[in-house]
Amino acid sequence: MTEASLAAHAAAGRALIRDKALVAGHWVAGDGAVEVDDPAERTRLGSVPRLSAAQVEEAVAQAAAAFADWSRRKPVERGRFLSAWADRVDAAEQALAALISLENGKPYAEALGEVRYANSFIRWFAGQAERMDGEVIATSAGDTVLTFKEPVGPVAAITPWNFPAAMITRKAAAAFCAGCTVVLKPASATPFTALALAELALEAGLPPGAFSVVTGDQAVIGGVLTGSPLIRKLSFTGSTPVGRLLAAQCAPTLKKLSMELGGAAPLIVFEDADLDVAVEGTIKGKFRNAGQTCVCPNRIYVHARVREAYLDRLAAAVAALKVGKPFEAGAQIGPLIDDKGLAKVEDHVARTVAAGGRVLTGGARHALGGGFYQPTVLDGGDDEMFLHEETFGPVAPVFAFDSDDEAIARANASEFGLAAFVFTRDLDRAMRAARAVEAGVLGVNSGLVSNAANPFGGVKQSGYGREGSVYGLDDYVQVKSVTLALR
Ligand code: NAP
Repeated sequence: MTEASLAAHAAAGRALIRDKALVAGHWVAGDGAVEVDDPAERTRLGSVPRLSAAQVEEAVAQAAAAFADWSRRKPVERGRFLSAWADRVDAAEQALAALISLENGKPYAEALGEVRYANSFIRWFAGQAERMDGEVIATSAGDTVLTFKEPVGPVAAITPWNFPAAMITRKAAAAFCAGCTVVLKPASATPFTALALAELALEAGLPPGAFSVVTGDQAVIGGVLTGSPLIRKLSFTGSTPVGRLLAAQCAPTLKKLSMELGGAAPLIVFEDADLDVAVEGTIKGKFRNAGQTCVCPNRIYVHARVREAYLDRLAAAVAALKVGKPFEAGAQIGPLIDDKGLAKVEDHVARTVAAGGRVLTGGARHALGGGFYQPTVLDGGDDEMFLHEETFGPVAPVFAFDSDDEAIARANASEFGLAAFVFTRDLDRAMRAARAVEAGVLGVNSGLVSNAANPFGGVKQSGYGREGSVYGLDDYVQVKSVTLALR
């Protein structure tokens, strides 16, 4: 892609920026504003309103009112709406990708990949709308039980900044498919993509009250959404401490919960692995979005016999990654979201070196300045910190192991359990690892584990609930059983 076409995309992305929140089809201002920055240029991109509690309550009331209508629409109508929404997202994909790059900083090509991935959820659930099948069960007493899948009710969704489009659609598309309505609070760092997606949904025929996007103070919005008895479910993606807080806030109203929380994924390279496949998988898993993904390998365990060969290939591949601004041709690694993210990466590298680790490539801020950090490979040191803290940056720490049992034990030593990755050519070994690893999603010879057809979610302190697939839809329904006493 040429610099000129990338500049044109950037302009189209800017044109999608709205400085208002979207409440039941109306663009509304608030009491003050939340500034939104461009993390690559370190300039102000715009702002969104700081809504009052009363304005958020209005969005909730409208979602409850719209639920009565939307939940009774025929499945074919809900599916048709989702298809129409997906068509509009397809048509706007370049501008949406540019908007993601502007507010998140990820390279344009990667942002375009995110829009397509985000839209795959809308399409998948468009097809699923007509397949909300229940069961017929014969009881021991000779009765017949029918099960109905009914939408849980108005839903609150709270999302993070690292996937400004995909985190929205994998919740909202499932919710609309089930017949739920949604009040969404996007991350304050990346609200514009969420607003643009909601605008497209309303253009595609969704009743206005069925999708509101509220912006502003996290505690004010969180307080209303978690406290309201009208909201019947909260789907949250973000950090584990905030997830715990929100779950506690939801307890008095006993909402159904989905908690997609932090991770500290292990990646294991067994001694029989194809090292080229392992390196390719490591790069895809670790360096996407500059390492700012919940599934990205946080600690890499390599069998001692292949450690050196793997490190040589990994360091060479990582050194070749192009760091650049999002609209620079060929850019592969963008900036970290903010100074806090940068400081954490620097801290993890410094602590690893202090513990005896070596920097094989990278290990410092990038010459571009701002939030840019060099893609880094570390060899050795102590994995203790990486069990408990997500680096959330382009740093691959590698540790050696001597036996399969040791690798699995170290993989499971973390309180988190979102993703894990294993590389091996031995099917028995792969299956043993698949059974033993404590994670919600596992990649075997793959660094990518996210797909609309794949149930995605964590165990342990990475949360509960699943997104994508029929399991993701189940998170938005309640099962009603009807007993037919046949005489
Ligand atoms: P975060 O600080 O937990 O924020 C996530 C969302 O929660 C944002 O919208 C944030 O609003 C909001 N929030 C924060 N405090 C709140 C409160 N007291 N009440 C209501 N809402 C509140 O996480 P983040 O830094 O944006 O995202 C990174 C984290 O997300 C990482 O831990 C990553 O692993 C995790 N993640 C998990 C998955 C998954 O599927 N498991 C996917 C992606 C990311 P503001 O933006 O206004 O602060």
